[in-house]
Amino acid sequence: MMGKVYLVGAGPGDPELLTLKALRLLRSADVVLHDDLVAPEILHLIPSSAQIHNVGKRCGKKRILQGEINDLMVALAASGLRVVRLKGGDPLIFGRAGEEIETLRRNNIPFEIVPGVTSAMGAAAAAQIPLTHRRASSALVLITAHRAAEKDAARKDASDWSKFVASGATLVIYMPGQNYSDIAKKLTAAGLAGGTPCAVISRATSKHQRTHRTTVLDLHRTPQLAAPALLVVGEVVRMADPAALVEGFVVPDVAQANDGLRPLALLKTFLPQASRLGTDKEPVA
Ligand code: SAH
Repeated sequence: MMGKVYLVGAGPGDPELLTLKALRLLRSADVVLHDDLVAPEILHLIPSSAQIHNVGKRCGKKRILQGEINDLMVALAASGLRVVRLKGGDPLIFGRAGEEIETLRRNNIPFEIVPGVTSAMGAAAAAQIPLTHRRASSALVLITAHRAAEKDAARKDASDWSKFVASGATLVIYMPGQNYSDIAKKLTAAGLAGGTPCAVISRATSKHQRTHRTTVLDLHRTPQLAAPALLVVGEVVRMADPAALVEGFVVPDVAQANDGLRPLALLKTFLPQASRLGTDKEPVA
């Protein structure tokens, strides 16, 4: 009988960010093939009846090639096993899922994809950064700095980045590496103002999470933070620090947003005890 492969997102680290579906599949898997990024706390949720293999890039000393992982998935599923291919974050975002899907299709292996919380979302939530904001950013771009190391790619990336910068989107840069001065140069070359705020978020949603707030101009002074880390760039990063609100970030007008429902009236609808706070004619601090 044919088995099945599940490409499952493990989320950014915190086990509570796993989906119920991911948890169910992990509990009923015959084999789990996971990446380095998957948190140990999540691997502990897999019952001992399952075989667990780290097929991550840094697994042991030997680098497992993508082709070998593809072959392994096909062979295991063809022998009737339920295989969970567990990836950090979401499997469809910088996760090489495309190559795995092609192989599975080509070999007629049934498969299903289970989304996960991508690290941009995990990091933004943990650092309290709204990735879009009605007054500051109406688009979100997920990009990787990984190709910056390649010679020709660097030039191509710079032009791609200017498109994104011109759109005013919040940028989340995956795989920034440690060369933040290179990234700052590319952002500036792409037209971004030096004063644009950015945040490096390392090991988001884990107990080792660290956040460094800076600007494009000072990005090169970023301290060495443990991998994995990502970089959020854009005006919305000001929201990460409540003190910055006072320094001129345009706060949305809630009264307008509620189409006539004044904030206090809204509050009273949910909290009867709020009635002692005053009348709707009084401004709410
Ligand atoms: N599929 C993954 C991304 C894999 S690429 C996802 O959806 O999140 C690997 C990159 O993801 C890392 O270099 C880093 O930039 C980012 N990343 C993954 N987990 C992270 C975490 N917990 N904190 C910060 N960045 C993370």
